[in-house]
Amino acid sequence: MAGFTVGFLGCKVSHVDAHALRERLLADGHSESPEATDVAIVSSCCVTNEAVAKSRKAATRAARTHERVYLTGCAANLGGDSLTGLPPNVTVVRGRPEETVELVAGDVGAIGCVQDERRFGRVRAAVKIQDGCSFSCAFCVIPLVRGATRSRTAASVLREIERRVGQGHREIVLTGINLGCFRDRGAGYTLGRLVREAGAIPGVARLRLSSIELNHVNDELVAALRETPTVAKHLHVPLQSGDDAVLRAMGRRYSVATYLRTLEPLAAEFNLTADVIVGFPAEDEQAFVRTLETAERAGLSKLHVFPYSPRPGTRTAADDPVSPAEKAQRSLRLRELSRTLERRRWETKLGRDELVLVDRPGRGYGDDYSPFLVDAPVGELVRVRAHGVSEEGILAVAA
Ligand code: SF4
Repeated sequence: MAGFTVGFLGCKVSHVDAHALRERLLADGHSESPEATDVAIVSSCCVTNEAVAKSRKAATRAARTHERVYLTGCAANLGGDSLTGLPPNVTVVRGRPEETVELVAGDVGAIGCVQDERRFGRVRAAVKIQDGCSFSCAFCVIPLVRGATRSRTAASVLREIERRVGQGHREIVLTGINLGCFRDRGAGYTLGRLVREAGAIPGVARLRLSSIELNHVNDELVAALRETPTVAKHLHVPLQSGDDAVLRAMGRRYSVATYLRTLEPLAAEFNLTADVIVGFPAEDEQAFVRTLETAERAGLSKLHVFPYSPRPGTRTAADDPVSPAEKAQRSLRLRELSRTLERRRWETKLGRDELVLVDRPGRGYGDDYSPFLVDAPVGELVRVRAHGVSEEGILAVAA
């Protein structure tokens, strides 16, 4: 039996990939422990230079304390020389996530003693429904490292959700690289139908979409989100820029007007959040100011800010005219706006009751993914009353 640790960098998809490996190694009879020294799994990220550097660092650190390290995921598939010179006990596992599990599990070896699945005690479970992306945003390396979009069958997704609920998870997050591309044509499923059926599985207290591209926010999906009682009132819809010329240069498939028009009818019902890239080659100060304005006009309450970093193999790989200092300054301004918008939303909750899913000691999330600081048992869905706002979230007591 090998003792192993699992770590991941990057997005929910990387987390799900790491979790798939964890489950497989446990099912093969190995044991997970923070003190393990046999095997380390590092599910990596390559979305920025910094993410690759952190992935490299994580693998190097693990190589000092473990006999074998498997570096999997996006950075492993990046190619080039970003991972050369790693310690000799690090294996860079290239291949699609579907193949990676077999490759690593085969190398570690099975001992055939199945472990108890209920040890995955987390409150929230991310369930991957799709992988890869067939869009071709000019800056994005993800289609190169993860391949074209492909979906799991609806039946396997629904079965996994039932299994997660059986393990005690209360909230399910449907996750993918480009979630709206999910299709199970053979069985006649769109994302909308999957949402309806996943949300109706007994034991699912909440169902959430990790992120959805604006082009996929259509009437059918919106109806499914509105009409499925367990669907959380939160939508993360990447904006990337609030300037039409920058959006065109990025190869995004919408204009600012379309973004605003699509989200406007949803803003009263859903908490809207977004990703934004700052310092893209076509972004000047005016374009950046238009992004600040668009974020406010769209009713966004939180912005995940990514300073642009050219990725190998992409259309903008050779372009990076905005200085690091300018990127840092724009990031700061955008993050300040994000904090203001977030606080504004939190303050609307004062004196009101809300159902909070407590996912760790002293903390949980409302239906719209607003963070609450409340003293209640982990794993419980509790009704709370908000009485204040701090830097970390909404202060509340059980109602
Ligand atoms: S939609 Fe664009 S940004 Fe998102 S993964 Fe696909 S190519 Fe990358």
